[in-house]
Amino acid sequence: MKIRVAGFEPESFVDGNGIRFTIFFQGCTRRCRGCHNPQTHDLDAGIEMTTYEIIREMAKNSLASGITLTGGEPLLQLDAAIELAKAAQQFGYNVWCYTGFTYENLPQGADRLLDYVDVLVDGEYREEERDLELLFCGSRNQRVIDVKQSRAQGRIVCR
Ligand code: SF4
Repeated sequence: MKIRVAGFEPESFVDGNGIRFTIFFQGCTRRCRGCHNPQTHDLDAGIEMTTYEIIREMAKNSLASGITLTGGEPLLQLDAAIELAKAAQQFGYNVWCYTGFTYENLPQGADRLLDYVDVLVDGEYREEERDLELLFCGSRNQRVIDVKQSRAQGRIVCR
């Protein structure tokens, strides 16, 4: 399956717990003021790869304990995100996903992705709520959500 990415980082220390294989999806239409990755906004920029190529790189990485889907907006390329998350779980990686959507307002079909996601960091970046003390997110409206616990308890459970 084709996927448009801004790039990937085989050993990231800042996109979730532990060492992570991070994939930066290309394309986001939100244009949050102060976004740290403006180069990922253009839907037609970045590079086109296949999910197979990324999965092959993922399989080489022995130091990472998880993968992170970020961007850009991973949910704009939902089927590719699902394929990567599913493969990652098969390799024994935990899966984090960043999205500008809120948990309550995910696009149609996102449930299929959540089946393979351990942690969802939700909400767009709001510069007026910026907080440098936060771990793994940039503004106070964003939440680091334990997906499995949230589904089990029927309410949002943050980590
Ligand atoms: S949702 Fe994320 S990637 Fe998109 S503009 Fe906002 S901060 Fe940037």
